[in-house]
Amino acid sequence: MKYFILFGPPGAGKGTQATAMVENYHLCHLSTGELLRSEIAAGTQLGLQAKALIEAGSLVPDEVVEGMIESKFKTVKGVEGFLLDGFPRTIAQAQALDEMLGRSGEEVTSVVSIMIPDEMIMERIRHRATIEGRADDAKEEVVANRIRTYHDKTEPLVDFYRKAGKYNEIDGVGTIEEVRERIFTLMNKF
Ligand code: ADP
Repeated sequence: MKYFILFGPPGAGKGTQATAMVENYHLCHLSTGELLRSEIAAGTQLGLQAKALIEAGSLVPDEVVEGMIESKFKTVKGVEGFLLDGFPRTIAQAQALDEMLGRSGEEVTSVVSIMIPDEMIMERIRHRATIEGRADDAKEEVVANRIRTYHDKTEPLVDFYRKAGKYNEIDGVGTIEEVRERIFTLMNKF
């Protein structure tokens, strides 16, 4: 099985590119953001716990997302691999992922990191807010907190995966098609 990690700041275009990636390489798309939003929509206990944190632009506890991911690994069949989108987001989650995969003799295949400049993050999220209506996109201070959380907790993963020789950066500035081509050129190597 292949395990690709789709990495990048909020608004980098991960969700947009994920659709084409899973189709082209027969992967299962696992977006922790989407999984959490459907728990909230279904009104589950987990959703109730996550709602306030997400709407404040904070992260939900590591154990919660780790559990969601591991249960998908166990139940999803008939794919050539997984595309992890929004996970791992902390060093602890990355270590938990290595352990989970290690238990079945698997490992992370590659990290595909879509990078855009900070000033573009706000611009793209402002635009998305007018289209998708996500609660965590609507307030500037929540978006600012997500960007801060990204820099503090998630960006250290760049070094973590660089040291593991798995980090690959893609320029996320350009049209959707241009960025997709760059990603496919990289993924074809694996
Ligand atoms: P974006 O990439 O635009 O920030 P996501 O849809 O990936 O949005 O995530 C939305 C929110 O869900 C995050 O701000 C966070 O609160 C929560 N979340 C998603 N993935 C994780 C994770 N791996 N660990 C902790 N919290 C997460």
